[in-house]
Amino acid sequence: MKVIKKAGTEDIAQVYIAETKSGRRIEFTESVGSDSTRDKKWVLVISSLYGCPVSCRFCDAGGGYKGKLSADEIFAQIDYPVKLRYPDLKIPSEKFKVQFARMGEPAFNPAVLEVLENLPERYDAPGLTVSLSTIAPLGCDAFFEKLYDISKRKYQNRFQFQFSLHTTDKKLRSWLIPVETWNFKTMAEYGKEFSESIDKKITLNFALAENMPLEPDVLLKYFSPDIFLVKITPVNPTFQAVKNGISSHIKIDTGKDLPDSKITITEALNSAGYDVIVSIGDSEENLIGSNCGQYLEAYEREVSCYKKDILAEKGYRYSIQNI
Ligand code: SF4
Repeated sequence: MKVIKKAGTEDIAQVYIAETKSGRRIEFTESVGSDSTRDKKWVLVISSLYGCPVSCRFCDAGGGYKGKLSADEIFAQIDYPVKLRYPDLKIPSEKFKVQFARMGEPAFNPAVLEVLENLPERYDAPGLTVSLSTIAPLGCDAFFEKLYDISKRKYQNRFQFQFSLHTTDKKLRSWLIPVETWNFKTMAEYGKEFSESIDKKITLNFALAENMPLEPDVLLKYFSPDIFLVKITPVNPTFQAVKNGISSHIKIDTGKDLPDSKITITEALNSAGYDVIVSIGDSEENLIGSNCGQYLEAYEREVSCYKKDILAEKGYRYSIQNI
């Protein structure tokens, strides 16, 4: 794998664009945050697929799906920043988090399981935790069974498992995520077992767009607050989100409407018994774009002489640099 571009800044966050031997491109990130240090917390967010066949309405990873990454290609995204910072592979960070959450639905790629199986032994990293976000696509039961087994054996209390729901309205969810997925009942059953196996709550993630309902009563029918917590994040200003008229319920740049959102949604969820995390992200990281898969799309548009959309420049202060 050859890293060809990067954006961001060393001490907060960096986004990398890399080309693998096959000539296909991926992106991955590392971040520290503007108010922390790498010794305290270091987060790597890596891709599982070349693009994504799901094509969620707000995500630029969708479209142009070009296949699955091998385990070596997934590991290369972790090896690159690790060797840059810690050539002896000893990672002293109190929390070293690897998130399978950049490009691609991880459940479509069995190589993700191979990586999870071998990750704890690959580095000397006492602070290792992993996080995997999934829309729970239909037809991936074998993946989820193996994932359960690995997490139980190797990631006791250090696995953050996340279902991406985005709305409690089933019709709107089918529009946002245009593939068939497990229904809420199946997610709840799996989540319960998974939570018991890792001794940790399961996250229900909502990248919450305007006019997308998040109804505590609907959640309560399926997801016990003893087992599930709710995370609400902004919808990033991706090319797809803009094209599909999707805007964030929580504004990324200023967090201005956050107090209203917190009163109306968080309080209702809290009253229903849920722990709620409202995660607007580090403002500097938002400008870098380390928590939103958009750089590769911006880069591909540039190299293909596609009409360059000004939104990428407007949204992110840090331009793409050559390496
Ligand atoms: S949000 Fe996830 S599942 Fe949906 S298109 Fe993007 S990478 Fe794929």
